[in-house]
Amino acid sequence: MVLKNIKLLLGMLRRDEVTRLYPEVKTEVSERWRGLHELIPTRCIGCGSCVRVCPNYCIQLVPLNYPYKNPKNKKGYPQIDIGTCLFCGLCEEACPTDALRMTTNYELASWYRHELIYSPRKLIPEDFPKRYRDEIKKLREAGKKAEKKDEKRGEKKAEKKSEKKAETKKEGEKEKGRSENA
Ligand code: SF4
Ligand code: SF4
Repeated sequence: MVLKNIKLLLGMLRRDEVTRLYPEVKTEVSERWRGLHELIPTRCIGCGSCVRVCPNYCIQLVPLNYPYKNPKNKKGYPQIDIGTCLFCGLCEEACPTDALRMTTNYELASWYRHELIYSPRKLIPEDFPKRYRDEIKKLREAGKKAEKKDEKRGEKKAEKKSEKKAETKKEGEKEKGRSENA
């Protein structure tokens, strides 16, 4: 009996490990894993498709205080309650600009319920400015172009205004001349 048990033990020792010493050893997950969302703020147009499609009503659009945003977005950015999210991925599918994506981050445990509400700022990846440098550059260039356009528009308006003023002044002088002659 003892010999049998020793044999069994030796056999077990030769086997591969089936458990991991988490969190020191992390489980590798598939690239297609649906974990925590990430938000690309320069792409979000505030359309609200993610809000409408969520079956658990865990998304709402809120204001975002961040230097890199989409200037066309006037409605807000998604805030997600991870505590009620079922990680179905419908919001990611519905997003027309690829601004909301699901990452492989599965370490979301928290002691407090309120910590599970992820504001848009919390959903933006830490390395966003580095990873999306090109997008930020494009956005800045577009901003400068829009500023120039606005400036030109302003100049044109000012020109038209001064032309109108000059015309009315001329007409006034003409009328004055006519009344003096009469
Ligand atoms: S993954 Fe599903 S449940 Fe979670 S926020 Fe997106 S749509 Fe809602
Ligand atoms: S994250 Fe996507 S779907 Fe949601 S509001 Fe922004 S652009 Fe629309």
